Amino acid sequence: MDHSKLIIITAPHAYCTPGSKVRMCDTFAEDAALEIYACLLERGHSVELLLSDTIRSVSDLNRIESRTTTYRQRLSGLLKSHTGVLLDIHSFPRGEFDITFSSGEIHKSGDVVVLDIAPGTAYSEELTSRLSEVIHTTLLEGSQVNDVVTQSRQKGWTSTLIEFVESFPRAKLKRVAAVVAEWAIDV
Ligand SMILES: [Zn+2]
Repeated sequence: MDHSKLIIITAPHAYCTPGSKVRMCDTFAEDAALEIYACLLERGHSVELLLSDTIRSVSDLNRIESRTTTYRQRLSGLLKSHTGVLLDIHSFPRGEFDITFSSGEIHKSGDVVVLDIAPGTAYSEELTSRLSEVIHTTLLEGSQVNDVVTQSRQKGWTSTLIEFVESFPRAKLKRVAAVVAEWAIDV
């Protein structure tokens, strides 16, 4: 194990306002991030967890405009002073990544979606392939407006964005988190 390598887990949309009727956060991101964090700690790896402290409508911490926020300043500091792997964790309502073809046919996304920012990376393909052994996983091209991944890649980090469906089967969470953690250690 390379102990000089840091693993950062970000969840820039994890902060939710209790009782809010409007969807302003990724409701499963914190649970997923905490489970991956626990798996890395169990394996004795150095890991930093950055959960958001602001709802998305106040500041979308995954956009370039938010780089001056405390959250993003803390991330920038870590990206500058270390090297390693960044896991950007999000969640989505079922259907968000389904693709409807002109024929009307719908291609349903997996319970996990790996959003690889263009140009695609072999390591995101490897993560998708490992996850596919334990859960239905889809690899899609993400946009560069996803600034946490974009910035970390600019700084030379291995990084990718992972989306969990919000109706995620809880019984599978530990196993799926372990796959992500082991990939982050190996990559
Ligand atoms: Zn999100």
